[in-house]
Amino acid sequence: MKKRKEFLSYGKQWIYDEDIEEVVKALKSDYLTTGPAILECEKSLCKYIGCKYAVLFSSGTAALHGAMFSIDIKEGDEVILPAMSFAATANVVKYLGGIPVFADIDKETYTITKETVEPLINKKTKAIIPVHYTGQPCDLDELNQLCDKYKLKLVEDGAHALGAKYKGKLLKSFRDMMMVSFHPVKHITSGEGGVIFTDNKEYYNKLIQFRSHGITRDNDFLENKENAAYYYEQQFLGYNYRLTDFQAVLLKSQLKHLDFFLSKRRKLANEYFLALKDFEEIVCPFQADYGESSYHLFVINLKDKYKDQRDFIFNEMKKRNIGVNVHYIPIYYHPYYKKLGYKKGLCKNTERLYEGLITLPLHPKMEKEDVLEVSQILRECLDLVK
Ligand SMILES: *Cc1c(COP(=O)(O)O)cnc(C)c1O
Repeated sequence: MKKRKEFLSYGKQWIYDEDIEEVVKALKSDYLTTGPAILECEKSLCKYIGCKYAVLFSSGTAALHGAMFSIDIKEGDEVILPAMSFAATANVVKYLGGIPVFADIDKETYTITKETVEPLINKKTKAIIPVHYTGQPCDLDELNQLCDKYKLKLVEDGAHALGAKYKGKLLKSFRDMMMVSFHPVKHITSGEGGVIFTDNKEYYNKLIQFRSHGITRDNDFLENKENAAYYYEQQFLGYNYRLTDFQAVLLKSQLKHLDFFLSKRRKLANEYFLALKDFEEIVCPFQADYGESSYHLFVINLKDKYKDQRDFIFNEMKKRNIGVNVHYIPIYYHPYYKKLGYKKGLCKNTERLYEGLITLPLHPKMEKEDVLEVSQILRECLDLVK
């Protein structure tokens, strides 16, 4: 039995010494939270991505919550999103009393499409949250057309998609807003953290206020015109969703490595495509020609006749020190959502994909040799079920 010497995790951060030095400087400065680093980091992110506004949050989930608040999601509003995602994508709708409506994914791209979304639209539908799953962009032109036709908002869950391209352009918020997460397994990290990108000033103002209890000090926005220098107003119910200054410093420093991380991920993904191309038991991720993936994840899908062996293969890989994972359990399989009345059978392609999914390790610290080793071990594990 071939076994890897040390455990290889499916995803991992890469913190440079220079990143650490920046954080230490910040810790010795006057500001631990909301100092100059927040705005500086937001500006750097905007510059990189080519967007007007960026608002940092304490997590990607908090950021997406802010986005849902900014488009005014309320009790009973329906929001269409994929079940092939992390629970947070649906939870942010629930936080505001909205109703997540799960759209199925396309069999090839693993993303929601015009065909899967349009039949679910009705009078209560307010928004769509496409997930750029694994870093592969959704077909945004098509979803945008739906938003025009039915007057819907489009908020992208781009947790996986920092640096991904759609029709030659970096993803940055196609219509209303896009969220990116800075959790350690994502492209760059601030420990916890997230951001909303938008070109819309109104959303920007709301997000800033939502991040800090619904409070404003801005004279232009005060409802009661008080002149006192200490005066501020809480105008709606917001949260404390602020990122700390030393996290923002870390993120700004990490941003310098992003291009290298992206090129490394793309190279490693290509090595996987090459190494796995003759594995007849599995399907490798299809790449839509309209986009360029940022390869947050490399997922393989076992063909139908091997799907009932997924857990066995998964466990055999783990025994050999390969940190496989499954992204994702369909959101409505979780007990919380089951109890709300969502039932198996809702999204057939999603459920079928889930049964065959295995996420292979992919992160910039890996080398070609790691990809070859994972592939050889996968070969050995697949041979066990022949
Ligand atoms: C990571 C992730 C989130 C949540 O981001 P956090 O920063 O962990 O709160 C949301 N959606 C998807 C698809 C994710 O992968």
